[in-house]
Amino acid sequence: YDTQALQRLDSAHYLHPFTDHAQLRARGGARVMVRGDGIYLWDSDGKRVIDGMSGLWCVNVGYGRDSIADAMHRQATTLPFYNSFFNTTNVPAVRLAALLAELAPPQFRHVFFTTSGSEANDTVMRMVRRYWDVMGQPQRDVIVSRHNAYHGSTMAGASLGGMAGMHAQGGLPIPGIVHIGQPSYAEHGQGMSEAEFGIKAAGWLEEKILELGPGKVAAFIGEPVQGAGGVIIPPPTYWPEIGRICDKYGVLLVSDEVICGFGRLGRWFGCELMGATPDLISFAKGVTSGYVPLGGVLVAERVAQVLIEKGGDFNHGFTYSGHPVACAAALENIRILRDERLVERVAQETGPYLKAGFADLTSHPLVGHAETCGMVAGLDLVRRKGSSVHDGERFDPSLAVGMVCRGHMFDNGVIMRAVGERMIVAPPLVMTRAQIDEMLERIRFCLDLTHADLRA
Ligand code: PLP
Repeated sequence: YDTQALQRLDSAHYLHPFTDHAQLRARGGARVMVRGDGIYLWDSDGKRVIDGMSGLWCVNVGYGRDSIADAMHRQATTLPFYNSFFNTTNVPAVRLAALLAELAPPQFRHVFFTTSGSEANDTVMRMVRRYWDVMGQPQRDVIVSRHNAYHGSTMAGASLGGMAGMHAQGGLPIPGIVHIGQPSYAEHGQGMSEAEFGIKAAGWLEEKILELGPGKVAAFIGEPVQGAGGVIIPPPTYWPEIGRICDKYGVLLVSDEVICGFGRLGRWFGCELMGATPDLISFAKGVTSGYVPLGGVLVAERVAQVLIEKGGDFNHGFTYSGHPVACAAALENIRILRDERLVERVAQETGPYLKAGFADLTSHPLVGHAETCGMVAGLDLVRRKGSSVHDGERFDPSLAVGMVCRGHMFDNGVIMRAVGERMIVAPPLVMTRAQIDEMLERIRFCLDLTHADLRA
């Protein structure tokens, strides 16, 4: 590959998502990724890195799965596309819908397909409103979400999300969406046990429902574990209490499983760990391990039957809803997850192993708190051992410590994500114990480098 020529073309023509292009240019341009195999990626200069982020939380079965490519090829040469609008359907979409109904918690029998997680959450918003319309309660039109949540980049997705930086661009949130605090014990839990904090944080939902009027709130949406917001794992008391509050006020519960679904937390769906019963699940990413875009919304019978029996036309859908090639990829991806028992492996073996490894990293002088759930882990870089990123002793933001650390990681063969001073991994579910060791060794080495930079 001619890396510089590719970088010049990239810089001249390609607007990247979530990127400061002036900074990218100042850094010498984008790294050109060219190949993947298992947990490893190669760039155009032949450099190999461990992909600690599964692409973007999605390549659950790892790179280089020929059988997924073959399934897509077979479908593309048989029937590359047909819509599901004209009272028509297609074989992979039907099979995938039935398989998802089998894998999901028992209340789910129906699925609506989209192309992405953002579209899935847009669908959630429209479906929830449609449901309450059909139920004769159109005034129930507000969805409650959480600060720092990420639910996508479309107008509704970014509005449902609670990222201040996204709201600041484009006058978001759109009407009908409000936010409550995130269940971050480290940030808000001072002076309380974790269990007490879980109840208190869930109580913010009840306060919001009462503030708006109980008949106003249509749904509450949350990720079982907040991913892009920095791997925020709520206390075990949080979701059961959220479930109780939703039941009490008749509010629909939506679990955004775009990251947490398809084995990431050691369950097929993260809500299996929540101790609450969602009415809708949005998913994407891991359903195809990112080999091709696909998303969707699983709909509990309580909602589906109202829409089916009384709803008439639901005036919503995408050209690529139930795309046959994407659904064929998902079927093969799920076959791999099942046959290789990857979900069970995360629960029983690799998840606990990663957890122990991250707990071990807290002995490093630069590391404060670390938390892990399945194959998702985060650690905080702290200025002083024993302090927290939330207690006012933060690094000077101009040092961009997280980004410096991320740079060392990439240079030394491992991809980690930085959210402020929180460093995150969400590796492919196929990562072995030996590969976890290899990743942790590199992480420790790069923490040393970052620490040395700060002392220089
Ligand atoms: N929901 C969550 C929890 C996500 O993490 C993401 C993407 O990272 C989305 C929704 C949006 O998905 P997509 O980027 O496929 O639109």
